[in-house]
Amino acid sequence: MDISYILNELGEERENYFNAVSPPIIQTSNFALKTVKEFRAALADEYYYDLYSRGNNPTLNILRKKLAALDGAEDALVFSSGVASISVPILALVEQGDHIVSVENPYSWTIKLFKNLLPKFGVTTTFIDGTDIENFKNAIRPETKLIYLESPNTFSYELQDLKAVADLAKSKGILTMIDNSYCSPLYQRPIELGIDLSAQTATKYIGGHSDVVAGVVTGRKELIKKIFDHEFMTIGPALSPHSAWLLIRGLRTLPLRIKRSFESTKVVTDWLAKHPLVDKVIWPFRDDFKQYELGQKQMQGCGGLFSFTLKDPALKKIETFCDSLQHILMAVSWGGHESLIIPSIAAIPEEEYDATGYNRWQLIRMYVGLEEPEYLIKDLEQALGKIS
Ligand SMILES: *Cc1c(COP(=O)(O)O)cnc(C)c1O
Repeated sequence: MDISYILNELGEERENYFNAVSPPIIQTSNFALKTVKEFRAALADEYYYDLYSRGNNPTLNILRKKLAALDGAEDALVFSSGVASISVPILALVEQGDHIVSVENPYSWTIKLFKNLLPKFGVTTTFIDGTDIENFKNAIRPETKLIYLESPNTFSYELQDLKAVADLAKSKGILTMIDNSYCSPLYQRPIELGIDLSAQTATKYIGGHSDVVAGVVTGRKELIKKIFDHEFMTIGPALSPHSAWLLIRGLRTLPLRIKRSFESTKVVTDWLAKHPLVDKVIWPFRDDFKQYELGQKQMQGCGGLFSFTLKDPALKKIETFCDSLQHILMAVSWGGHESLIIPSIAAIPEEEYDATGYNRWQLIRMYVGLEEPEYLIKDLEQALGKIS
């Protein structure tokens, strides 16, 4: 399907709402039915009816159609956060006694799902280095139900060979799910490589303006309906119609924004890599990235998140550098219009930090937004000047 059609027309039936170009926000909790017969049918299978906005809502359903089509999937479900779009489907797919194989460094709250929440229900997880397919083969057990991927992750950017993992899982009857937030479906299409479910935080690139928290999962209708019928309706992570409308608006400019972020990141990372105070720059589309070939094979472009280290990673140096930035904001999240920085050291107590050798706490993560790259470079240059 043509991407311009998906983003500008698909799911929108303008003749039903005064030919308005922007769809209405159907701000209602419930929908009236005309006959008892229709009411009975809606109660028996809510997936197919506008009955109550915890299940279906027309504004959300425009968004669902667009997000499913972007992924080349049969259906999509949207959630009130990205973490809900990961945890609710997983809760729907596993049973007591099941086992999950997960990559070792997924999103922080995904780790908590596997380590804290799922064990309460007798579901265990083995974490592996996903850069080698052999590690998946070795971790699979007879009770393995799900393989969970995140490629690239959003701090150190390890990739998994999606096609190889999907083929392996299929041969063993195991489901696969990926957190595809980093690339969005514009730069990586996991469903087409054989992955069963593709989740994304819509808070980041889809929304794109740092003003809404949401998530999406896409896949075959049979799987999406299973998630909808049970855990989605009982846990209740529905998105508000207003937030869905903001995401539809975000989608209109998604190709422009992600391309801008991608291209500016090339400029900024090239500049940083040459700076005398900078040690490593880690970004999947730099040719010194350790899985560069795999990235070129399965990604059509790259997100604007990257990490770097300083030649002298003393705590004080990292702090002074970050505190000195005047335009690049220090904040969590990414994918919006504004460039951001996170020093990993902010996530641990000062006394636990070790500046010797190399460890992940030395990483400084940057997200390149929509500003002029030269503007960002000027800010980085003056802040690096404070520690030279
Ligand atoms: C932000 C993020 C999430 C969680 O999304 P929320 O919308 O914040 O709940 C999941 N995965 C990745 C990679 C993220 O960056």
